Amino acid sequence: MTGNKNTFEELEEALKFGWSLLDDLNFQYISDWKNDNPSRQAIGYFPIYVPREIIHAAGMLPVGLFGGGSHLQVIKGDAYFQSYICHLPRSVIEMALDGNYADIDGFIFPSICDVIRNLSGVFKIIIPGKFIKYLDYPQNFDWGVGGEFYSLELWKLQQELFELNGIQVSSRDLNHSIILYNKNRRLISQLQNIRSATPWKISTADFYAVMRAGYVISVEDHNNYLENVITLLGQIECEPEDKIRVIITGSFCEQPPMGMIKTIENAGCYIVDDDFQLGAMWIVGDIIDVSNDPMQALARAYLEQRVLSSSVYDSDGSKGNFLARLVKKHKADGVIFCAPSFCDPALLDRPELEKTMDKYHIKHISFRYHENLGQFQVIKEQVGTFSDSIKLWA
Ligand code: SF4
Repeated sequence: MTGNKNTFEELEEALKFGWSLLDDLNFQYISDWKNDNPSRQAIGYFPIYVPREIIHAAGMLPVGLFGGGSHLQVIKGDAYFQSYICHLPRSVIEMALDGNYADIDGFIFPSICDVIRNLSGVFKIIIPGKFIKYLDYPQNFDWGVGGEFYSLELWKLQQELFELNGIQVSSRDLNHSIILYNKNRRLISQLQNIRSATPWKISTADFYAVMRAGYVISVEDHNNYLENVITLLGQIECEPEDKIRVIITGSFCEQPPMGMIKTIENAGCYIVDDDFQLGAMWIVGDIIDVSNDPMQALARAYLEQRVLSSSVYDSDGSKGNFLARLVKKHKADGVIFCAPSFCDPALLDRPELEKTMDKYHIKHISFRYHENLGQFQVIKEQVGTFSDSIKLWA
């Protein structure tokens, strides 16, 4: 490792900040943000994607919610759902019942699967009086059909937020928010490029913590934070280790436990791309308002600039080719299919994706997890064998 000792210390400090937010299930940042101005409101949203620009333009803090991860023991949440669904809704309910979301004034449930749909109904019962919104997305990507529908959904959302805090959003406000989030996506992409080109400089676990900060802190603070981390990474040099390069896919909603990410890295892999926290990168590139109608620009971006994901209908089977292109782009040696147990969208897509990987002779393995999994020995052995086999024989 080379670089100024102070730079390494500053980088360590910066990463610690990301980890502290990740570990804080009580969202102290939100309390502090609201204490600065008691009329402020925070709006929580669940995976994968919501147009945060609208919430920000309304003067509110968008907060991404993923459940308690490995920090939470779920007891009450289990009573609300049958055993054969994923873990995320149970832990989210546990946190709602325990008061962890006390500073959050409303919740948006984006339409990605039946579980999230039902969760929005359960929230109406367990925390009555709060703003609960089930946000529907188009599965038809023609502007005249899906575009019209989605624009109307976005207008409704903006109106509902207005009813909450009385702030009328102008086109100028919304354009300002779009510019801030465009910058945020560009900075994340820059950090992702550093991680892909030199994964020995920042582990995926640390990269994850830096990204995850953006789900709690304001976009202004996150942009400053990203700029700082990127600058510090530019000032250090580290030696690469003998590891294979992998892409992880299938983890776009319920997040894998941090212990699992570290286990994969320690078992001989550089994770050069993944779909954790996909919402922050859902729109590819800048959103450009060409017709002085920023709401329409947001709707068009969803139709024309979104990533391909298992939660979105794909009529021409292009998700497999999209993944194969990612493998090529990141010079990956293989793919790890890693989805939450009982995650219908991810697991139903897997056979087709595996078939496409086989067609292109891309090596792959698969396993499942839940967010508070504590035993990683089996995964360590499976990934270690995958890594060794590629190093020895590929
Ligand atoms: S993990 Fe999968 S099944 Fe569970 S809520 Fe998310 S998308 Fe739905």
